[in-house]
Amino acid sequence: MKLQFRCPHCDAQNFRHRSEEFHRINCESCGWERPVTQPSADASQLSECLVCGNHDLWRQKDFPQSIGLTFVAAGATLSSIAWYYHRPVWALGILLAFAAADLVLFAIMPDVLVCYRCGARHSGGDLSEHPTFDHETAEKYRQQKLRLEEAAKSSPG
Ligand SMILES: [Zn+2]
Ligand SMILES: [Zn+2]
Repeated sequence: MKLQFRCPHCDAQNFRHRSEEFHRINCESCGWERPVTQPSADASQLSECLVCGNHDLWRQKDFPQSIGLTFVAAGATLSSIAWYYHRPVWALGILLAFAAADLVLFAIMPDVLVCYRCGARHSGGDLSEHPTFDHETAEKYRQQKLRLEEAAKSSPG
């Protein structure tokens, strides 16, 4: 399983990749650690976030948006160069080819399970049984986070 998370204690970005199960999660920069209650080698068996224990996880394509955007931008640039040299068929062909490649890339990308609360990303295994993004659930967590921040601000110390 691959795990990517921000340390809840020091906010450092951590990345783990193991073929066997995790028994505890720890932060490399501050030493924070948390035991894993249901160790599993595969993200598909997860029912809770390994980092914060939250039960709401959603499935996403493990496809960095920046790559997708760079790809689209490259296609558009090449296409406009072809257009500039009066090659409209080329221009259209390039755009279509890049759009198709983008779709293929997206389809072959593995899924990743994201925690609504802390944003930890767990990947590995077939995650198709898990639900996709739900706006209501996300909103619930956003409100909760805002309330926590408000509480932290108003309490002395
Ligand atoms: Zn830390
Ligand atoms: Zn979490």
